[in-house]
Amino acid sequence: MKRRTRQPLRTDFLFDILIVGGGITGTGALSEAGKKGYNTILIEKGDFASGTSSRSGKLVHGGLRYLQYGHFGLVREALKERDYLLDTYPHLVKPLSFLYPIYKTKFKVQLFFGLCIYQLLNLFSNLPGFKYFSKVKTLSKFPSLNKENLKGSFMYSDAVTNDARLCNEIIHESINAYSTTALNYFELISFEKQDNKIIAKCFDHIEGKAINITSKYMINASGPWLDELSEKIFPSASNITAPSKGTHVVLSMKKFPFDCSLLFSTKAKDNRWLYSVPWENDTVLIGATDTEYSDQIDLTRVDVSDDEYILNAIKHVVPALKISKDDIISSFSGIRPLLKHEKISSKDRSREYKIWWAESLVLNVFGGKLTGFRSMGQKAIKMIAKKCPADSRSIQEKGHILTDIDFNELPEDFVKLMKEKYSNESPKIFEICLDKPIAMDKLHSEFDIYLAEIIYFARHQSCYHIEDVLGRRLSLSYVMTKVKEQEEIVQKTADILKIECGWNEQEYFHEQKDYINLIKKRNLYL
Ligand SMILES: Cc1cc2nc3c(=O)[nH]c(=O)nc-3n(C[C@H](O)[C@H](O)[C@H](O)COP(=O)(O)OP(=O)(O)OC[C@H]3O[C@@H](n4cnc5c(N)ncnc54)[C@H](O)[C@@H]3O)c2cc1C
Repeated sequence: MKRRTRQPLRTDFLFDILIVGGGITGTGALSEAGKKGYNTILIEKGDFASGTSSRSGKLVHGGLRYLQYGHFGLVREALKERDYLLDTYPHLVKPLSFLYPIYKTKFKVQLFFGLCIYQLLNLFSNLPGFKYFSKVKTLSKFPSLNKENLKGSFMYSDAVTNDARLCNEIIHESINAYSTTALNYFELISFEKQDNKIIAKCFDHIEGKAINITSKYMINASGPWLDELSEKIFPSASNITAPSKGTHVVLSMKKFPFDCSLLFSTKAKDNRWLYSVPWENDTVLIGATDTEYSDQIDLTRVDVSDDEYILNAIKHVVPALKISKDDIISSFSGIRPLLKHEKISSKDRSREYKIWWAESLVLNVFGGKLTGFRSMGQKAIKMIAKKCPADSRSIQEKGHILTDIDFNELPEDFVKLMKEKYSNESPKIFEICLDKPIAMDKLHSEFDIYLAEIIYFARHQSCYHIEDVLGRRLSLSYVMTKVKEQEEIVQKTADILKIECGWNEQEYFHEQKDYINLIKKRNLYL
């Protein structure tokens, strides 16, 4: 397979910063380094966002529940970031209402004060403030809720995103706009220091070759892999992380007809709260579990007990919907990057992030939440700037938007949909369609997804495998249940990638087989 890159990677080049990890943390650092004028390269051993950053709860939020631990600074910063993301990426970050049914009077009072503080921490937000609904009003809006002991409900606002697409869009925005490079399927294998420079020995899994990258500084943004990567860098590194696993299940919106997020208690001993999130392709995500995880991070998978735990909680809050394991379309698990804390369980451990010099040239950026990636990136780059000021003359705004495409001859509905989905990037899709009208065919009659989108992902968003497209760019891997539908979609995607990525016949066959095996593992009940 050939790598599609804007410029060939020069091995004699000295980068200012090497970022290891293409999740949202690395993405935030890349974008901020690019804006400041650092010559930066980001490498990711799998696809961008293939770690935790495609398996989150997708919420862009302040984190109402962190108020009970007194984390006011964390919540205020996250609320500010939420509003920035709503303004800057409106096609990817959208407002969402949250419904909190109340079953205990004491909790009603606590929640009222919590919501007042939440609102006060971000007084100038454009999102609607919270409201209270009586029991009658709550049930008239949401008749399937458990009526027993229901006192009423609160509704408040936060936001939802597509985590993997957000990550990919910002990475490619940085590549296009600044002096930055980002390579997926490019793994850091080992590390050396020579004359106060870093020599990172890497392996390019696309081209199948070893390659060295030289840089002045390195940012370790490997999330839950931090301990594993630290050992590769300094063999004497001690383990400092205590990851926890979180699982979500995917249901059809028809089966769980809530167009807002529903928050509900598990009623289990751990007294945990779960939430539902209306999601893409008419589905709803429900999660997340929170269990200590000590296995290899690469081997993360869903256990049947995770699904059962979530199902039990759903049965309590919406018994009338009679949801069973047969209704689960798929499930996915992610690993929270958390620091060790002997006395506190993972659910109560802080989601605050930590940035520190692991040694003179390596900065660790760890933890936090998806929502706060920009401020984590800003703080990390500020710490590098103290040692190595950026040369603002080297800021190269490359300007990437194709504005002179005449797309008037394309159908109006199609143009509108692509603008809604891809915003400034949509002209690249129109260019593909004008060149190849067949690209305006749908991938499958059941989904509003077009072949041009797959070509765009391969040409402009570093997709090399079927899961890069169907999993992380289109979220279809989580919803394809009918085997026939799946075969057709996989085949059409493979046909496009064969041309765009230059697969030979053997690769074409193996890529499809590998993808089907992956999906079978994920959809536990097929
Ligand atoms: C179940 C769950 C629900 C969550 N819900 C939310 C939510 O709703 N809202 C929110 O704001 N946050 C949420 N979070 C938190 C958020 O998802 C994480 O904080 C965030 O995604 C972590 O991103 P990261 O970039 O640090 O890690 P990752 O996304 O895991 O990225 C690290 C990357 O480093 C790469 N890597 C590792 N080793 C190497 C190497 N040797 N060479 C190259 N690359 C390497 C990995 O492949 C990986 O892609 C949730 C987390 C979980 C687990």
